[in-house]
Amino acid sequence: MTGSIVLFGPPGAGKGTQASIIVELTGKPQISTGEMLRQAVSEGRELGLLAKEYMDSGKLVPDSVIIGLIENRLNHPDASSGVLFDGFPRTIPQAEALAKITTVSAVISIEAPDDEIVNRIVGRRMDPETGEIYHVLFRPPPTEIESRLIQRVDDTEETVRMRLKSYHEQTKPLGAWYSEFGILKKIDGTGSIDEVGQSVAAVVGSL
Ligand code: AMP
Repeated sequence: MTGSIVLFGPPGAGKGTQASIIVELTGKPQISTGEMLRQAVSEGRELGLLAKEYMDSGKLVPDSVIIGLIENRLNHPDASSGVLFDGFPRTIPQAEALAKITTVSAVISIEAPDDEIVNRIVGRRMDPETGEIYHVLFRPPPTEIESRLIQRVDDTEETVRMRLKSYHEQTKPLGAWYSEFGILKKIDGTGSIDEVGQSVAAVVGSL
């Protein structure tokens, strides 16, 4: 399939976890704006310094910054037959800018209620060596790597509530926007990681 795929949904719905299945099935590279911003923060780059205060308070980074980041990334040769966007676009202006530079063939929307999201996010842990995402209850890590796992600074309950507010106000309307183009595929994100993965694989197979 040519064109790009957008993985859409609230924070903590499982976009980062499910992205690997789509990468495996389509061979498209994953572009996660959240990951790119966290990298810029940890390397102390100017972009990171600018983005950090928005990220730490659960607010969206300004559209102009994000759009510039994506324009640069899409110039890389690996993006020529489409990519998988994870966490982008998050506003209608971002989606409009994206439509001018690439074709979006499908938007896979993983849906989950707010209370479940809060439970999932506060228990989320990441292995800095492999990038693998675990959950203290739902996907317990092997004991031998437990001590090296880290929690994202924005994964506290207070910040998650702010991120959900940003999602409902600024990002959710994009679902209806994409739905009008007939490319929105909704998935129930409340099952186990494997169950949601099967739904994701079925949608990707139908594209
Ligand atoms: P994520 O890892 O996708 O949950 O993103 C973490 C944080 O990075 C978000 O809470 C925002 O502050 C920022 N961010 C990531 N992607 C975007 C985007 N497309 N637009 C605006 N802010 C973003």
